[in-house]
Amino acid sequence: MTHTVAILTGASRGLGAALAFALAREGTHLVTLARSLHPTLGRHAQAHGCHLEEHTVDLSHPASAQAAAARVFAGMPRNAQRYVLINNAGTLGPVGLAGYQQAEDIAAALNLNVTAAMVFTGHFLKATEGLAANRRILNISSGAGRNPVAGWGVYCSSKAALDMYTRTVKLEQGRHGARIASLAPGVIDTAMQASIRDTDPADFPDISRFTGLHANGQLAEPDAVAARILAYLDRDDFGATEVDDIRHY
Ligand code: NAP
Repeated sequence: MTHTVAILTGASRGLGAALAFALAREGTHLVTLARSLHPTLGRHAQAHGCHLEEHTVDLSHPASAQAAAARVFAGMPRNAQRYVLINNAGTLGPVGLAGYQQAEDIAAALNLNVTAAMVFTGHFLKATEGLAANRRILNISSGAGRNPVAGWGVYCSSKAALDMYTRTVKLEQGRHGARIASLAPGVIDTAMQASIRDTDPADFPDISRFTGLHANGQLAEPDAVAARILAYLDRDDFGATEVDDIRHY
């Protein structure tokens, strides 16, 4: 019997992989989406009695995101007690001061960080509407959506849009609908952080802050952050603060 249906984007590495491993338990039907598969998630899920459904898709292509969402939600079990969507897939996108990014790179980043999250949220809401179940959506945002960072105009704007979208959906859902929150996860030791440290300082004046966080061991481990995020998702008051930060807990 399926207790929980969890849909998670960006599960192939980093924070998403850590979330996927922690979510893969007996009674959970876990659906993951990314361009590549995690090499050992399937074995882990099988060993833990989790029904895993893995989709490879480039979510920066709106048509592919739309088709994947339609496929996932059409095939979703409808007898679960709990439905969870975690929009985690994200990219830093093109880094550089305004005027130094190409239109197609800007669009691809916005498509992944914003459009795909909106598409999956919309499909989730429609597919679970009317079910006698607990329905929760967690958007993985960033402190960069709330405070500007020079060189990250695309990334900061995308996460600010995700925050505002979350606020809007909360308003639409009201007190009895699905619950939703947009959560900054803090700084985590993932490939995204490695790519930040690889940036040209001319494109990203604040690079020393991030090389310093790494050098001083101040980046959190993905597994530890994933455990805190899943505990947050389970809270009775989940969604009460719709734009939130895991570092407050
Ligand atoms: P990451 O290590 O770069 O992993 C990103 C994940 O997104 C991967 O699974 C990747 O899978 C997937 N992804 C990237 N492009 C995709 C595409 N076009 N289509 C489908 N999936 C795609 O990043 P992370 O650090 O774990 O970040 C996870 C989330 O946390 C992001 O939303 C990020 O903005 C946010 N965040 C991270 C930090 C941090 O310090 N790391 C801080 C604040 C917020 P594939 O490459 O296989 O497609």
